[in-house]
Amino acid sequence: MRSIAEALASMLPAFSPLGEEEVHLTESAGRYVSRDVTARFDAPPFDNSAMDGFAVRASDVASAAPDTPVRLPVRGESRAGGPLPESLQPGAACRIFTGAPMPAGADAVVIQEDTDRDGDEVAIREASTEGNHVRAQGTDVASGSRLLRAGDRMWPGEIGLLASQNIERVHVFQRPKVAILSTGDELRQLGDDVEPGMIINSNVYVLTEMLRALGAIPVPLPAAPDTLAEIEASLRTALEADVVITTGGVSVGEYDFVNEAFKNVGIEPMFWKVRMKPGKPASFARYEGKPVIGVPGNPISAMVAFEVLIAPCLRKMLGDPQPHPQPVVARLRDSYRRRPGRIEIARAVATRVGDEIIVALHQLQGSGSLPSFVGVNALVILPADRAELAAGEKVEAILWGPGLNGPSSFFDGIS
Ligand code: AMP
Ligand code: MG
Repeated sequence: MRSIAEALASMLPAFSPLGEEEVHLTESAGRYVSRDVTARFDAPPFDNSAMDGFAVRASDVASAAPDTPVRLPVRGESRAGGPLPESLQPGAACRIFTGAPMPAGADAVVIQEDTDRDGDEVAIREASTEGNHVRAQGTDVASGSRLLRAGDRMWPGEIGLLASQNIERVHVFQRPKVAILSTGDELRQLGDDVEPGMIINSNVYVLTEMLRALGAIPVPLPAAPDTLAEIEASLRTALEADVVITTGGVSVGEYDFVNEAFKNVGIEPMFWKVRMKPGKPASFARYEGKPVIGVPGNPISAMVAFEVLIAPCLRKMLGDPQPHPQPVVARLRDSYRRRPGRIEIARAVATRVGDEIIVALHQLQGSGSLPSFVGVNALVILPADRAELAAGEKVEAILWGPGLNGPSSFFDGIS
């Protein structure tokens, strides 16, 4: 049986980005860019005023003070989106507004509050230094500089940056199609009549959303009944996708045909069983290089195996250069006794308390029941070799689902 690290080490090489495609910026959210993106022009694209006031030559107002204001004639105006101002003659001022281009010759802005307008003249009551209240061309971005690196993910800020550069299309890694093949005679679809002995195929809905959240394309297939022939036929369909996930049928029961079906279809087994709890009967195989992962049918095991084993591999395939979960350090709220041997991925509620994160493990760790996932915002990694963990012990936790809870010294009390 493999450790989680060994399992991932044999899985990860099978997941490489598929290739790239070009998408419109408005379709790029959540995608990983496949090439560096460079700036088309300087930002700001021209020297402009950071304030409303008067553009001047700093040397003309060097002696200005409240008691000894400097009076300058006002020549022209510059406003954002207006006609470009003429160049500023020495000894004059130009009315200017935020975002407006600086007239040639001007090198500082005196804010309106430090001036008194008097007809065609303005009295400047404060000296200004060169560059004061001026947003100089190219100070945010120099033309030709790198804006994004290959592997960066597109979030709203990245989209804004490229939009500001008039970059309409962006190269991103392709999204893998991931087939979800559930197996089990007992499985019915949402909305079906559920006869006695049957259950709804909840896994397919869970895995569909987990795939979507990663940025992959879920391909949910009809559940396959527990017969070798039907599982094989469904596998052949599933293999049209880039990655196949099967759920169920990987234990050692008499109706657990998935591993045998793999063999018959020509899917080459790589490993079966991982030293983790839940999720032990997970398997990994390849068909002409294509990854095929089997997770247990138990809904909790399927979710945990997906998060720990499949998600990192898919993130790598999507182009994420750091595909592993990035756990936070937390402290156990309560002591916990367990059977040592396998790493346990425990469902918990994480709360920020002061500058620490406290995790309360869910009461129903052993259960395969879905209510035990409701409200869970952390998966706590409990070391394999420990039979007893004390309250207050440090552990690593993968933040999950709804994210961290906790009182805020800033937001609490705001209503
Ligand atoms: P298996 O891995 O096929 O032995 O299934 C283990 C348990 O998970 C059984 O109780 C199944 O009924 C249940 N199960 C299997 N597949 C699913 C599924 N797709 N959705 C919900 N429960 C499932
Ligand atoms: Mg089954």
